[in-house]
Amino acid sequence: MVEIVYSPNTENEVAVIGAGPAGLSAAYHLAKQNIKTIILEEHPQVGRPVHCGEGLSSLALKRMGLEDVPSSALGLKIKGIKIIFPNGQYTVFREEGYDLNKDLFEQYLLEKAIAAGASLQAECRVFQFSRKNGIWSINSNKMLIKSKAIVDATGYQSLGNKILNLDPNGPNLIAGAQYLIDNVKNDGFIEFYIDPKLAPGGYLWLMPKDKDRANVGLVSTDSINIHKNLKIFLTKVGLDKNKIIRPFGGMIPCSGPIKKTYAEGIILVGDAAGFTSPMFEGGTQLALKSGQIAAYTLAKAKEIAAEKKLADPYIEELLKNYEIEWRKNFPPYQKILQGKKFFYSFSEEELNTIAKILPNDLTNLDMVQKIKILIRLFAIGKNIKKTNFFKAMETFSYSVAEKYGW
Ligand SMILES: Cc1cc2nc3c(=O)[nH]c(=O)nc-3n(C[C@H](O)[C@H](O)[C@H](O)COP(=O)(O)OP(=O)(O)OC[C@H]3O[C@@H](n4cnc5c(N)ncnc54)[C@H](O)[C@@H]3O)c2cc1C
Repeated sequence: MVEIVYSPNTENEVAVIGAGPAGLSAAYHLAKQNIKTIILEEHPQVGRPVHCGEGLSSLALKRMGLEDVPSSALGLKIKGIKIIFPNGQYTVFREEGYDLNKDLFEQYLLEKAIAAGASLQAECRVFQFSRKNGIWSINSNKMLIKSKAIVDATGYQSLGNKILNLDPNGPNLIAGAQYLIDNVKNDGFIEFYIDPKLAPGGYLWLMPKDKDRANVGLVSTDSINIHKNLKIFLTKVGLDKNKIIRPFGGMIPCSGPIKKTYAEGIILVGDAAGFTSPMFEGGTQLALKSGQIAAYTLAKAKEIAAEKKLADPYIEELLKNYEIEWRKNFPPYQKILQGKKFFYSFSEEELNTIAKILPNDLTNLDMVQKIKILIRLFAIGKNIKKTNFFKAMETFSYSVAEKYGW
């Protein structure tokens, strides 16, 4: 057996690459279990620049035990989501959450991780890593870092997948663009606009924020015209004269998890593993949860290896528990992706008919309301293919906080 040369004073048990919600959650839960953890982040400041619509459900915070988030980071309390169809008709889903100030939220997560014992190396861009005798050598612009395990939390660019080729084809990415806009009044609801002309294969949003600001953006398969279409949308909702505080563009994984989310000595979390909610691409709750599952998997592997006197605790056989665990928790991706395809294949006319079929409020539908939907579907939805409608509606139901939708 090869002896592993490892000094706990100079080397880290786990290196977490990327200080987004996934990496910070992993680092916190690792450090909490007395596992020596270093976070490597390419930017000088954690959380900045913000690259997110910043919506997060109250349930996500509760589930993750994050109930002491400072109010400055929580931002604006949200009452629910309005889904607005091309004809302007809408249906609401009431579910509480926040439009965070996500930079402050991530800095709060960092403080928790540091208080638990993790350390941070900022302005540290990792570009390569390789493993020999159970130890990773991690090359960055700053230094060579050694660790026994890696948590890859590098976001949609998924450095681990690039280096280890865990899924040569995945994940598929969809383009997003967003402006932070000033002077926008709100009624506490997030607005999702379904508009196949401006956002084919995606949707547009208006996420109200504190201090009368809003994130206005879209995801769309038409990446070439994405900013042009966002400007048209701003005019449509009467915000074209408002000051744009900050524009940005980004990519979001949209095809579900990559084929394999772990390998010897490494676990991929958050966007790096392809974990976003399939319908509306929210990824923060899944990032936080996958980081936690990764941390507990690594801690358990360490414990088992100590019992069995294994030289390397992070063998695939022990890390496969990560996939077993997230599959138990996370939504059934293949099913939802199929429903999403049906939803985005509806024409504008069909979507407007669906708007008439659905009630004004989708929250806690009882049997009578469901039967009324069916009656309207058969009465006025002659142009709608029924199986596509049911599959699309099922996919919609996976967008709630309970199903890790936001
Ligand atoms: C336009 C847009 C709007 C969105 N809106 C929402 C929303 O409202 N709600 C929601 O839940 N989700 C939303 N998302 C998705 C959400 O932002 C992501 O799913 C979530 O941030 C994923 O977290 P993460 O930690 O996996 O990755 P990220 O948040 O992307 O964090 C990755 C971190 O890794 C760092 N990094 C990357 N490569 C390296 C490297 N080589 N070396 C060192 N550091 C590195 C990055 O700097 C970054 O800090 C949105 C995304 C976009 C693009």
